[in-house]
Amino acid sequence: MSNTCIFCKIVAGAIPAKKIYEDDLVLAFHDIQPQAPVHALVIPKRHLVCLDDLGTEDRDMAGHLLERTAHVARELGVSQNGYRTLINTRQHGGQEVDHLHIHILGGKPIGPMVCR
Ligand code: 5GP
Ligand code: ZN
Repeated sequence: MSNTCIFCKIVAGAIPAKKIYEDDLVLAFHDIQPQAPVHALVIPKRHLVCLDDLGTEDRDMAGHLLERTAHVARELGVSQNGYRTLINTRQHGGQEVDHLHIHILGGKPIGPMVCR
């Protein structure tokens, strides 16, 4: 847990979020500034800064995170038509919140993979 991390505060219940799914290892909630009709974030509860922070000891958790992301997408009703998953890493990746998170974007065609 990081005292300054906004997603750790959401995990701790110190700031509110519209939760979609939660278990011992992961939490999913709606993005506060949705970029698509469906925009959710799936995060590990443990504070990991970004994908590059994952170690071999996190393999089980990371597999679970990915599997639960697909579960959350099904719960949100976007699986059949499809959706975009996205992980931004550090500055060039456009990462703004330094706690590893997977975006789920759906509910309409999401468009090209990268802005031109
Ligand atoms: P990044 O740019 O780091 O990949 O994405 C961070 C995402 O977190 C953004 O889409 C942003 O809207 C979302 N976000 C930032 N602060 C909060 C918050 O306090 N609550 C929620 N639910 N989402 C947040
Ligand atoms: Zn954190």
